[in-house]
Amino acid sequence: MRSVIFHNSNTAAQEKCRGWPQAWRRKQELRSARTSKPKILILIRVVAMHAETNDLAPSTSFSRAIDIAASRRATTSTLAAAADLSSLVEPSFSFSHRPGLFDEAGRLMLKNLTLPELEEWCLSVAGEPAKRAKQLYRWLYGTRKWIRNLDQADGDPQAFSAEFKSKVFSGASLEGGLQLQSVHTARDGTRKLVFALLGAEQGGPARGTHGTVETVLIPMTNRSGENLRYTACLSTQVGCAMNCQFCYTGRMGLLANLTTAQIVEQVVEARRYLAEQSVPIRIANIVFMGMGEPLHNYDSVMATIEILATGLELSRNKIIVSTVGLVPEMRKFIAAGTAKLAVSLHATTDEVRDWIVPTNRRYPLDQLLGALRESFPYDKRKGDDFVVIEYVLLAGVNDTLEDAQRLLALTSDIYCLVNLIVFNPHEGTPFRRSADESVRAFRGVFLTAGRPCTVRTSKGDDEMAACGQLGDVNLSARPAPMLKPPDALAARLVGTGAGTVATPLVMAGETGSGCCGGN
Ligand code: SAH
Repeated sequence: MRSVIFHNSNTAAQEKCRGWPQAWRRKQELRSARTSKPKILILIRVVAMHAETNDLAPSTSFSRAIDIAASRRATTSTLAAAADLSSLVEPSFSFSHRPGLFDEAGRLMLKNLTLPELEEWCLSVAGEPAKRAKQLYRWLYGTRKWIRNLDQADGDPQAFSAEFKSKVFSGASLEGGLQLQSVHTARDGTRKLVFALLGAEQGGPARGTHGTVETVLIPMTNRSGENLRYTACLSTQVGCAMNCQFCYTGRMGLLANLTTAQIVEQVVEARRYLAEQSVPIRIANIVFMGMGEPLHNYDSVMATIEILATGLELSRNKIIVSTVGLVPEMRKFIAAGTAKLAVSLHATTDEVRDWIVPTNRRYPLDQLLGALRESFPYDKRKGDDFVVIEYVLLAGVNDTLEDAQRLLALTSDIYCLVNLIVFNPHEGTPFRRSADESVRAFRGVFLTAGRPCTVRTSKGDDEMAACGQLGDVNLSARPAPMLKPPDALAARLVGTGAGTVATPLVMAGETGSGCCGGN
């Protein structure tokens, strides 16, 4: 194993602002008031945090915060003040509903914004034209400089004016909310980047969150083993609420949603890191297959996709969002058509899927596959507009020839590519990897029928960097429960440990480990 440890050396310049619109000046005053920590501000922050950590709808967070304050018997005057302050932070931009926009100093983190949003901010706050936003966007993402502050553009014809710098410094930040901590390189060249969450100890977007964020760079090689490009596997949450039984991250439960800035920063930092290491290979593909359920953090992920495509110039066809099958969000995602979709099916009967992918109890197979049939009808297939169906092969659970035949039939009218995943084990799992022979036979059923079927082999598993191996269950105060398998399977699993699990059958969301697995 090779590991490299990094240390933080970040400071942010702050200057007084002049000539800003009134609402923003009031926010600045609010910020300075915050430093002296009057009780009301602390109360507002605490209740807002409470609202966010309880996964309330972002747009209701503040009014909910005030309700919570009320339920905690705050005084009338405190509540009046809270209501007044809430008017300062009520949505004033089209993006104001997204959570985690501000850092611990109350500055807007500009990496949360898509280009149109940055234009909106530049115009209304800094009185700057759209071209200034484009210029900033290019420096943040497009110049291979990935600037951390505006001074880094000095000396260039495209440098920023002192006035603009001062406006940005006083109300905004170019930070991504992550700090690269270490890099672990596996034998096959897969690199796992581990990030600390900035602001976790203060009041920033990661407030109160323990744990780290992990991003994996997977080398894509040609037939002669030459590394041609990287696929970056991004995390969207710390932990995950879905409780898929074979997934290590799922054991953690959900600890936090990442902000757009924190998801985007994973790619920015990965590019910085490769450049610093003089690795000439580019990141060409993005998969949302790291920690978390991307569609359970929908708004932040959708904004991220825009920034990846328009700022970091990644092809939308090479961005894949993998979902456990949250049907309403999945339909919205398909309708938006901004990136490609992969669906984690993993079972061919509700009985088995209810067990290994408990989200199935809320969105059973007929609903999930029905939505895919509508959106990707085989008889109207066109080009590369197909969905990827992911299927992890678990010995004795879902890897028989009958399973293969059922999967073939269930997906025959869906324009899809079936991607079989080799199981990556982790400590304490009752599941086992299917034998190579079973994988070959399973795939053979598809090839015989003339249907495409690929096998995703394990990469980076000696460094716990493979699919479903990210995170650290020890960081979780209440790990998610293992569920009881169906009786017929328990018998088949005797000796693996799964048949002896005695925990009562519960939904992910009923465990207190995070929010509902089927939201
Ligand atoms: N929440 C998303 C992303 C999960 S990670 C989803 O469910 O699709 C990406 C893929 O890895 C998913 O298909 C997931 O089910 C699979 N996976 C999880 N744990 C795994 C493991 N231990 N071995 C192999 N694949 C795993």
